[in-house]
Amino acid sequence: SNTMYLRVRIGDIGDDLYAIFINDMSEQRRFEAVRRDFVTNVSHELKTPAGAISLLAETVTDAADDPDAVRYFSGRISKESARLTELVHHLIDLQRAQSPQGMINARRICALDVARAAIADNQVQADSRHVDICLSVNGKPVPTRLADDAVAPQVAAPMIKADREAMQTAVKNLVENAIHYSPEHTTVAVGVAERDGKVTIRVVDQGIGIPAKSLDRIFERFYRVDPARSRETGGSGLGLAITKHCVQENGGRISVWSRKGEGSTFTIELPAAADEDDESTQDGDGA
Ligand code: ADP
Repeated sequence: SNTMYLRVRIGDIGDDLYAIFINDMSEQRRFEAVRRDFVTNVSHELKTPAGAISLLAETVTDAADDPDAVRYFSGRISKESARLTELVHHLIDLQRAQSPQGMINARRICALDVARAAIADNQVQADSRHVDICLSVNGKPVPTRLADDAVAPQVAAPMIKADREAMQTAVKNLVENAIHYSPEHTTVAVGVAERDGKVTIRVVDQGIGIPAKSLDRIFERFYRVDPARSRETGGSGLGLAITKHCVQENGGRISVWSRKGEGSTFTIELPAAADEDDESTQDGDGA
């Protein structure tokens, strides 16, 4: 908390001690406090899986004669190390998204390409959970994979001026969450649209939803609606913080609609690229 307590003596009213609240923490100190919290959180998040791994490794050594036990504990070791890896990757993404130098590569790019790359990054996970991902442009269904576009009618894809990697990271995290927080055999719909000079990239799921009181907190670093569930199923608690940074650094906005038990809709809104904005052809960063 950034509230300080100051006790003052007010002589006129009989030498009593009064407690008043003041809130004079300077920006600098507030920043320091946030940074300290962050480091504490990171340490905690790293320590948990790291501790589990070493414990499990000991156990698996002790259980060397029992193949079932070895299989079980090895499985848990892989799960914990996957969690550790995800956290480290997210920390790197967050660092990049927060540093002003990280986002200088704003070019005219295709929002549909961004959506497709984000979907591709999550396809294995979606398949394993039997979640169907569909994609549309201005309301018209299009294939999720570029390779299938040859047989599909061409659509004019909305263009944005943004850093390709940052936007891909932003949308990838939204799709990842949409799959993660949905029951099996549901659909995640990704929609790209352009209207009135604005491009939106929307990710809609039919998942567990987010309680109203948590809606404005989910973009905070390490905030989770259900920490116990997250511990169980993985997740770094950083995904949405990264997404928000990536979007803001590119001059966009992100909003969320959700109802508990019905699903969630995340919408990224960016200005449409002007025709004269540079095409991203110089370094051939196709995807
Ligand atoms: P995590 O790694 O825990 O998913 P995020 O920053 O990506 O961290 O998300 C923060 C929290 O917001 C999650 O722990 C979850 O409680 C909630 N959340 C995010 N996306 C969704 C979604 N599509 N449906 C339901 N809850 C979500």
